[in-house]
Amino acid sequence: MSEMNNTTEEKTCSKVRVKTGVRVICEPPSYATRWISAPYGTEKYWDRVGEILGDWAKEINEFIRDHRSRDDVGLSVEFDFEEQCTACQQPWELDSSYDDGKPRCSYCGAIYVKESA
Ligand SMILES: [Zn+2]
Repeated sequence: MSEMNNTTEEKTCSKVRVKTGVRVICEPPSYATRWISAPYGTEKYWDRVGEILGDWAKEINEFIRDHRSRDDVGLSVEFDFEEQCTACQQPWELDSSYDDGKPRCSYCGAIYVKESA
C-alpha cells in the first residue's frame, strides 16, 4: 500500500516479532514420564514419552468426561510468536547472496535495515 514514490528508493525492511496465535498448554504431572527406559534426548526416548503422554492425554479426556479424578493438572495459556519481515509479513529469513552484499528478505527482496528498539 505504501508503494507511491518508489521509483529510485529501494524497499527496506526489518525483523519484527508478531503474535500469531494462542494455545493452552497442559503440563502433565512429573510422575507421568518419570520412568523411561531409554537414554534421555534420544529419538527412542521421545518416542516413548510420546506414547506415555498419548495414553495420559486419553485418560485426561476421560477425566474431563467423568469428573472423578483429582490429579494435579496444570493448564496455562501461551501465545505463539513468529519473527516476520516488516515489509511482506512472511517468516523472517535473510538472503545474503546478493551481489551488492546487502542482506535482503528472501521472500520480498527488501533490504534489511537493523531494527531500532
Ligand atoms: Zn519481506
